[in-house]
Amino acid sequence: MTESGVVVAENARTVLERCADAARRSGREPNDVTIVAVSKTHPMAAIREALGVGLRDFGENRVQEAAEKWSGERAAGLRLHMVGRLQRNKARPALELFDLIHSCDSVELAERLSRLAGEVRGGCAEVLLEVNVSGEASKAGFAPRDVAESLDRLLALPDLRVRGLMIIAPAAESPEAARPYFVALRALSDRLRAKRTEMGGELSMGMTDDYEVAIEEGATMVRIGRAIFGVRRPG
Ligand SMILES: *Cc1c(COP(=O)(O)O)cnc(C)c1O
Repeated sequence: MTESGVVVAENARTVLERCADAARRSGREPNDVTIVAVSKTHPMAAIREALGVGLRDFGENRVQEAAEKWSGERAAGLRLHMVGRLQRNKARPALELFDLIHSCDSVELAERLSRLAGEVRGGCAEVLLEVNVSGEASKAGFAPRDVAESLDRLLALPDLRVRGLMIIAPAAESPEAARPYFVALRALSDRLRAKRTEMGGELSMGMTDDYEVAIEEGATMVRIGRAIFGVRRPG
């Protein structure tokens, strides 16, 4: 039921309102926060409902699925975001498809994206660096110290633009439990940007269970799946 179009549109409106309120609480305008509607496993019919409410940023976590879903005509202003782990052998199709890759999690992947970008896009690869702030072994991403150490190398890559940082907070009982991780990511971003002003200030943090807290702590992008599209279809 939650996947019927009407419910998606209603859900999306609710998310838009809550994000706008959280943005104001953090002293910003609603437009300062991009809502990335994570449409993985959901069909175009549901996505069209989200488009109807004005959402224009969509996130996927698998290159193959995204290529099948999004190869056709795109709505004006539509931007596609890669939020899942990106295998190096999928770098080329990912660059063809996605406007922003949130999940750049190693220097090797960054080098590959930079090497391919000119050829595939005739321009730069746009990425966020995924940071494993919690240190969980199951999570991808740079350790915070490694980002600092790798940043010079990353910023020297000719066809890579580092737009900011991304985090997946550990699963938790309450949204408040994620707050310290969001605070830590923002602090890391501030420290890095004080040294290297070329690094972008985007902060991709917050999902269905904690997006309002993330916005309060400075998220510029939230990645929201279930709150918009309902439960995911088993894949
Ligand atoms: C699936 C996914 C999301 C969305 O998760 P929800 O909890 O459904 O909002 C956000 N970020 C990443 C990296 C994901 O894989």
